[in-house]
Amino acid sequence: MITVDQALSHLFALATPLGVERVALAHAAGRVLAQDAVATRDQPPFSASAMDGYAVAGPVETGDRFKVTGEAAAGKAYSGPVGPKDAVRIFTGAPVPAGCGTVVIQEDVVRNGDTITVSNDPHGHSIRPAGGDFKTGQSLSSPRKLSINDIVLLAAMNIPSVSVFRRPEVALISTGNELVMPGEDPGPDQIIASNTFGLKALLEANGAFVRVLPIAKDTVQSLEQVFALARGADLVVTIGGASVGDHDLVAKVAQQLGLLQSFYKIAMRPGKPLMAGRMGDAVMVGLPGNPVSAMVCGQVFLLPVLRAMQGLAAQRQMPMTATLAKPVAQNGPREHYMRAIVENGALTAFDKQDSALVTVLADANALLIRPIDDPAQPVGTQIQYLPI
Ligand code: AMP
Ligand code: MG
Repeated sequence: MITVDQALSHLFALATPLGVERVALAHAAGRVLAQDAVATRDQPPFSASAMDGYAVAGPVETGDRFKVTGEAAAGKAYSGPVGPKDAVRIFTGAPVPAGCGTVVIQEDVVRNGDTITVSNDPHGHSIRPAGGDFKTGQSLSSPRKLSINDIVLLAAMNIPSVSVFRRPEVALISTGNELVMPGEDPGPDQIIASNTFGLKALLEANGAFVRVLPIAKDTVQSLEQVFALARGADLVVTIGGASVGDHDLVAKVAQQLGLLQSFYKIAMRPGKPLMAGRMGDAVMVGLPGNPVSAMVCGQVFLLPVLRAMQGLAAQRQMPMTATLAKPVAQNGPREHYMRAIVENGALTAFDKQDSALVTVLADANALLIRPIDDPAQPVGTQIQYLPI
């Protein structure tokens, strides 16, 4: 058995960045930049008024009077001259007229016809300088997963499309004579494929395009047929059939179809019978079938693989830290990922940790990480977890 870190190293050797494509900004959120995006303009492109008020030449004091001689609005600059006793009515976002160094906000003046009198101590100059947000040449650097707020910045930079890494295409193969799809009519000895849909959601939330293939029966022929449908995928993920029972045929069939296995079995709980390798042009990962095992392995192994395929750093998911609110017993020889709840920085593991319990999984929002042979830990210990 190898450790979680060793398994991840094997996976990173298999998962290299995919090709690059150009997408419109409207489709770029969540994608990973493959090329720096460089601003070709300053923002704001001119000194802009930050408030509604009056633009005047110099600093002002209470009691100063000005004559209103023009108007500047957003999208409509005022280009006339501004004398020392002139004021230009100005609105938020308008270019500040040449020669003006102050915008007096309208709340600080009294207006009478075309005359304004400064009535309060002025509040600063209320001008956003040209290029004060970003300047020509400033960039967002690759690789970077584009957040929603990055899209705002790219749009402001006048960048209508960006170069991004291709979305990994994942073929998801559920295996087992006992499985039917949600909505079907299960026989008395059948259950519903559940983690298949959890994995699809998890992988798609992390940049993948997922094809859910028909459920494979526990026969060589059925597995071969479904593997054939996976052709073209960057990542082939099987669920179940990974142990050593008479009906666990995934490894055998995958090897007959050319799988070059990198590893099988890891020192992890849940998820011991994980396997991975290269299958033609694709990375193949065989997940254990128990719902919690499959989802935990998805978090711990598939997400870093997806990130590496999208050009991001090949590294383990960064754990977070919280304070243990309930003691945990000594851990054994496998890294243990315990379903837990984290609330206001306090972490509590559930008593029930059976890897088949989807109710406990649904109630959890964290995986408490227990290193191999970690001693018992009391309340108050700073402990690591993955948010889920
Ligand atoms: P296996 O690895 O095939 O021995 O499966 C282990 C357990 O997980 C068995 O109880 C299976 O019925 C169950 N299982 C396998 N695949 C799925 C799935 N896609 N959804 C829910 N349970 C599954
Ligand atoms: Mg099975």
